[in-house]
Amino acid sequence: MFNFRFGRGLATAEKSYDFPPFRPPSEAESLLLRMTRGCPWNRCAFCPMYRGIRFEVRESEAVRRDIDTAKEVLNEPVETVFVGDSDSLVANTHTWCDILASLYEAFPSITRVTTYARAYTLKRRSLEGLKKIRRAGLTRLHIGLETGNALVLKKVRKGATPATMIQGCHQAKEAGFEVSVYVLVGIGGRSLWREHALETASVLNAIEPDFIRVRTLIPQPGTALYRWWKAGTFELPAPELALKEQRVLIESLKVNAYYLSDHVSNYAPVHGRLPGNRSDMLKVIQDITDRLRGDENFRQCIKKRSKHIYL
Ligand code: SF4
Repeated sequence: MFNFRFGRGLATAEKSYDFPPFRPPSEAESLLLRMTRGCPWNRCAFCPMYRGIRFEVRESEAVRRDIDTAKEVLNEPVETVFVGDSDSLVANTHTWCDILASLYEAFPSITRVTTYARAYTLKRRSLEGLKKIRRAGLTRLHIGLETGNALVLKKVRKGATPATMIQGCHQAKEAGFEVSVYVLVGIGGRSLWREHALETASVLNAIEPDFIRVRTLIPQPGTALYRWWKAGTFELPAPELALKEQRVLIESLKVNAYYLSDHVSNYAPVHGRLPGNRSDMLKVIQDITDRLRGDENFRQCIKKRSKHIYL
């Protein structure tokens, strides 16, 4: 007996099912399907997510068995699906089209299928192959930019330059995918916060993503960045500086995109559609900054929680 987690609650089944260990918060209501295990890169200095997991593309037959199990167990229509783990687009076009065909056959009510993808992988894939996968029903890609600053990208071993990030995202957009790009507030530390904010805005302006999703850096034990932080060679921006960084980022963005702080790590619930909601978003940052300066209880509280919305 196992817990069958698919967002809307828990069901149980007698059969086995392989779950992706992580999903974006916006996929909380989605059926979770695991097509690969782990991360083929697995070297980012801030990321503990798939440490200790040897990367592999699962056998299509095993993934199809999971789809059959989900169909057997779920008693309601499935509208959204998230496919894990971190970079499943390393799997070939045929495998993707095959799995997507099985998914849509099992759940004809699907309206959205998303996955994580590395810009490096997208850049290396053929446009024709990506278009085929898009036509087969993968609709949105969640891509980790983290920063647009070349020095910081190199330092945190992201495995991509700003140019790679832009080219990979452009390739995804040209293939017809919705592009959701993640930014890591604080990754420039105290010394490079402004460069990080300005150059991240510049790369996002070049990408023109559909969604910009913000997380705030919390050093995770077991990572290189955690060791740098403990050794004092990386200085984490205080909440006021992290908010200032977001202000500079938002002021510098020239995109038509949703901006979402849909993660518990963030200090402020800054959400909106750019450019229209820019002044409201900046006001949220200013209000929280003012309170942080004068209210220690609020400072402690804000460090622990943030309201978030999912799209
Ligand atoms: S941030 Fe993404 S690409 Fe980097 S190690 Fe983690 S899962 Fe892999």
